Amino acid sequence: MDASTTPQAATVKLLIGGQFVESQSTQWRDVVNPATQQVLARVPFATPAEVDAAVAAGKEAFKTWRKTAIGTRARIFLKYQQLIREHMGELAALLTAEQGKTLPDAEGDVFRGLEVVEHASAIGNLQLGELANNVAAGVDTYTVMQPLGVCAGITPFNFPAMIPLWMFPMAIATGNTFVLKPSEQDPMVTMRLCELALEAGIPPGVLNVVHGGEDVVNAICDHKDIKAVSFVGSTKVGTHVYNRASLAGKRVQCMMGAKNHAIVMPDANKEQSLNAVLGAAFGAAGQRCMALSVVVLVGEAQQWIPELVEKARALKVSAGTEKGTDVGPLVSCAARSRVEGLIERGIADGATLALDGRNPTVPGFEKGNFVGPTIFSGVKPGMSIYEQEIFGPVLCLAAAKDIDEAIEFINSNPNGNGTAIFTQSGAAARKFQEEIDVGQVGINVPIPVPVPLFSFSGSRASKLGDLGPYGKQVVLFYTQTKTVTARWFDDDTTAHGVNTTISLR
Ligand code: NAD
Repeated sequence: MDASTTPQAATVKLLIGGQFVESQSTQWRDVVNPATQQVLARVPFATPAEVDAAVAAGKEAFKTWRKTAIGTRARIFLKYQQLIREHMGELAALLTAEQGKTLPDAEGDVFRGLEVVEHASAIGNLQLGELANNVAAGVDTYTVMQPLGVCAGITPFNFPAMIPLWMFPMAIATGNTFVLKPSEQDPMVTMRLCELALEAGIPPGVLNVVHGGEDVVNAICDHKDIKAVSFVGSTKVGTHVYNRASLAGKRVQCMMGAKNHAIVMPDANKEQSLNAVLGAAFGAAGQRCMALSVVVLVGEAQQWIPELVEKARALKVSAGTEKGTDVGPLVSCAARSRVEGLIERGIADGATLALDGRNPTVPGFEKGNFVGPTIFSGVKPGMSIYEQEIFGPVLCLAAAKDIDEAIEFINSNPNGNGTAIFTQSGAAARKFQEEIDVGQVGINVPIPVPVPLFSFSGSRASKLGDLGPYGKQVVLFYTQTKTVTARWFDDDTTAHGVNTTISLR
């Protein structure tokens, strides 16, 4: 943790019981602009008492919130989506300042979260039970989907708007209260979104926020009054959260790390496919869980490497605020060192460095955490750059003789977040869709993140827990299904007598 030396920087507040309050913590870290190293704010690592207070506020608010009319809940999210739209420019600017991604991409980050808020405003159609009439004579059975209580969310640095918005709107719309723990690297845009949520009408205590790292996350996993935990972040931390929170009896969903592959078939539209590959590999400086990090070139498509490299070389590396920037800085100096270290390892492991993006010249932003587009060819399993999630602008190219070999290559990788195929053959696309063992499949779509009508559906080592964020699955995640079997006696009906069997009659 950085010991802050900038007492003049603004402090990021906690949100407890409807109040934005200063933490009493003695542990703080700086929130730093990754393009300039300017300290933007200081964020506290909340104390155990502050975590308790946030959960207690959620528990108290749950008593009334769980009974709030569905229309009232829906209307809050209708207002909220309007407020987010009105503040889009401000939110994107805040996000770019603390995270680094380009302004248009920051708007995309907010927008993909906004779509979930819109989804939350349709809660009346989503949280519907079922009814079977006359399961026995005069007996009906129906289900009600009831909220769980206080739920918690732990979010990563790379989508500080979208991922918090994956979580608290749907949890709250279904009648729960929430404690959010944003990434300590870029909590400012998340806090602004929380301010707008309160302005939209979310009552005191229904949404609470604590900041921090490992200790706060562990306190959330262990807390007896938290019923469900939603986590998005690295596989290492996600696995820990899943085990710890499950052991404490909570419902848990963890969306984790990735190594996303695309297949480029020789019959693909070359221009469109190469452009799509580059956007998905180098957008957000490769810091997306759905970023494309491995491309398997099939047969003659291997001859397209020089063209791919030249297109990548032409991408503009600069601050996210600069017009025309394609690749912004990495989130921190530590992230930059890590990515540069992995590039070194790739060379040492024998991959061919077709494009070296280290130490790019970025006029006006000499202190920024920049790594330009980097491409390795001849990448094979066993190399560090293949085995590890790089989470930077580094694209690995591998080769396969045909689609079967390419599919087998991808299915042998433990991760299952996203994948794509580029082809003009319907038969190849359908074979890929059927045989690939990855949760989110794109057909000529490089980053196939589903819109909120569906659920995010990463699989295998990229996910723990059965139900995904947003869509319909998350309604099941945040509710408990209760079945009610009911008979109403008519006073004038002849009594059946005592029934000692299990059957209804
Ligand atoms: P991270 O795992 O380092 O941090 C995620 C959260 O866990 C943060 O809130 C952080 O404060 C907390 N944390 C960090 N270390 C911890 C520890 N030792 N114990 C307990 N909590 C800890 O992830 P990140 O670097 O912020 O985000 C990048 C990662 O997230 C990548 O692996 C990326 O693939 C993944 N990600 C996955 C998805 C998905 O949907 N599958 C989406 C976005 C990001």
